[in-house]
Amino acid sequence: MRFRRLAIASALALSVIATACGSSEKTIDAQASSSAGDSTDNTGALVGVTMPTKSSERWIHDGENVKAGLEKLGYKVDLQYAENDIPTQVNQIENQITKGAKALVVASIDGTAITTQLQEAADNHIPVIAYDRLIRNSPNVDYYATFDNFKVGVQQATSLLVGLKVKTPDGGDGDAKGPFNIELFAGSPDDNNATFFFNGAMSVLQPYIDSGVLKVRSDQTDFKTVAILRWDPATAQKRMEDLLTATYSGGTTVDGVLSPYDGLSIGILSALKSNGYGTDGQPYPIVTGQDAELASVKSIIAGEQYSTIYKDTRQLAEVTVKMVDTVLKGGTPEVNNTTDYDNGTKVVPSYLLEPVIVDKSNYEKTLIDTGYYTQSQLG
Ligand code: BGC
Repeated sequence: MRFRRLAIASALALSVIATACGSSEKTIDAQASSSAGDSTDNTGALVGVTMPTKSSERWIHDGENVKAGLEKLGYKVDLQYAENDIPTQVNQIENQITKGAKALVVASIDGTAITTQLQEAADNHIPVIAYDRLIRNSPNVDYYATFDNFKVGVQQATSLLVGLKVKTPDGGDGDAKGPFNIELFAGSPDDNNATFFFNGAMSVLQPYIDSGVLKVRSDQTDFKTVAILRWDPATAQKRMEDLLTATYSGGTTVDGVLSPYDGLSIGILSALKSNGYGTDGQPYPIVTGQDAELASVKSIIAGEQYSTIYKDTRQLAEVTVKMVDTVLKGGTPEVNNTTDYDNGTKVVPSYLLEPVIVDKSNYEKTLIDTGYYTQSQLG
């Protein structure tokens, strides 16, 4: 009896600390309740997983991998896709809470649009893990699993410079001195990652723009101007067509395009193709990408797209599944970054994975040897 009172007192003390600390609230809550002898058994619990869209391969793989990993540990999984429609994703999260989900994994469409649902989750002691994309402006995000997004941008820009031969692959200076005409694209402005990618890329490109080695002919260098809402390939294609008409119709050619995502790169390459690029006389510019999507890897092998950034979604799923399992068992998941991802309300404890540059020279080693694709998938 005396022990039980002590346990309750320490549980109360812990939850006071937890409320004051915010970020680790749920973990400590769970520990507190178990030390009070009132532990919640989450074996076989339902986990809600929401992904943005099936229109890009990567999210299909992400969803399948997270689901399979959680099911392997005995959890039930409700996996939903919202086809990039914000109200649909909001409803899906609401439904998962109503269905009794004990944890939520969210790859958001608009990282600021689900604050109300996350409050509801917090009120029901449901931990929330932001998947790949940070959820902004809410205190109710417990952990974040992602890749080093700034580094993705650094790698995209580095690969653009290597493609232009301004840099060598080992980081040295290349022979080419320019000036080269380039154009910049960024991702969706409501996706926190897009700013990280762009800032990472500009940290590398800006000195070369300042010194005149690179010239953004259109003068469009501002994030808001170059951002493509919802990462839509058709919007990128249209913008590239407009740029070619407005800036390059007098015979100047574009030498490089910073593209933050394979889907956009495909749109950009089609605009270039319909404007006469992709021939011996007028080769494609150096076009970057991200995600190592099948069509883009094939395009790299065919010598069209120059590079992509490989992010092993199997690893991201694994880290996320481990986070969910640890939190639901009352533990504290492993993180490796507690400084970089401020969501506007708090710094969300994060686990960052390493992205890898892929081009024609290393696709076999990075994508086939690792089992991400088979040789026959790549044709
Ligand atoms: C992801 C990228 C992806 C993009 C478009 C970003 O949030 O980090 O991997 O290319 O969304 O789907």
